[in-house]
Amino acid sequence: MSAGSADHAALVLGIETSCDETAAAVVTREGRVLSSVVSSQVPIHARYGGVVPELASRNHLVQAPPVIAQAMAEAGIGLDALGAVAVTAGPGLAGCLLIGMQVGKSMAYARGVPLVPVDHIQAHVWAPFLSDARDAGAATRGLAYPYIALAVSGGHTSLLKVDGPGVSTTLGATMDDAAGECFDKIAKLMGLPYPGGAHIDRLAKIGDATRFDLPRPLAHKGLDFSFSGLKTAARLAWAAASAGLDEGPALDAVRADLAASAQAAIVDVLVDKAFLACRETGIARLVAAGGVACNEGLRARLADKAPRRKIAVHVAPARYCSDNAAMVGGLGAALWQGGAGLTGRELTRAGIYVTSRRAVYAAVGGAAKAGARARGEAR
Ligand code: ADP
Ligand code: MG
Repeated sequence: MSAGSADHAALVLGIETSCDETAAAVVTREGRVLSSVVSSQVPIHARYGGVVPELASRNHLVQAPPVIAQAMAEAGIGLDALGAVAVTAGPGLAGCLLIGMQVGKSMAYARGVPLVPVDHIQAHVWAPFLSDARDAGAATRGLAYPYIALAVSGGHTSLLKVDGPGVSTTLGATMDDAAGECFDKIAKLMGLPYPGGAHIDRLAKIGDATRFDLPRPLAHKGLDFSFSGLKTAARLAWAAASAGLDEGPALDAVRADLAASAQAAIVDVLVDKAFLACRETGIARLVAAGGVACNEGLRARLADKAPRRKIAVHVAPARYCSDNAAMVGGLGAALWQGGAGLTGRELTRAGIYVTSRRAVYAAVGGAAKAGARARGEAR
């Protein structure tokens, strides 16, 4: 799409810097992605085995301007085509969020367009509505509110009842580690590169999932999650099975079998609780979102088991499951359409939040805030 064919000032620039991806995207009011650029910091953090917050925020500062410029160029638009700027306000790493928020504020203020603060988790669970040249988007396949969302990433694991764009109730959450963290830690103990989720997914395809009998924590017991015990069980299993083995085919087999066994345990718990949430609420629409929703074992299990339970499953393409700015621009556009957006002095006061969602409800104003309050959901 070129600037000439773009509805004047109807496009939204999304900015995402909550953790270790610097991302920018241009999205239409209807959630059609014109460009989505993600600059990953994985090579910077890999040698530390996890994200180093200070390095992450410094790198966002370096990467944000060129990533935004690339997103604008790939969409074929100039700044005058932007009607709003949407930016992740939280949750995430404070220093990282501050960079994106400051860049978003500066651009919105300078252009005289509204700034829409967006919640990172709400953006993840909204992502299936995105459409692009390769994918028509879940809206066209019948996704509608309310729906149940399984939000699973490196930092978050929760089950939400989603009633509208950015409006949800938390039904359950992890009491300790996130599912992605569990994938990453088990990968790390087996000597796989960071982040390990995708490596476990790859090895699980060739491993024997029945070799290690790992626990399914809290399975069939409510909608909260716990992964720390599973992590410990995997560590003990690895220590016992790898003892005395040098690098070679036997150790590779242990790695693949433990990857398959651990993935089976995690997927069992996630799918069990997601279906339980559907059953308890009587809602038969389920979204899986966040980086862990890239997991092919999880996707296959959902696709296999849901039809028998008459549940329609919607999972965004992998490029919109792991951290990206298209989901931020898309949810931002939906909120903007609903009357949200900060200008003038209000814009300059927009803040970030590390764990709580309170700030975004206080900041977005208009319909979204009133709706959330009326339902008693702002927390
Ligand atoms: P964040 O946690 O910062 O929001 P993402 O939403 O991008 O980040 O999720 C990253 C997490 O997703 C990491 O823990 C990573 O290991 C995990 N992940 C990515 N791909 C897969 C996969 N195929 N299988 C399992 N986990 C995956
Ligand atoms: Mg994320």
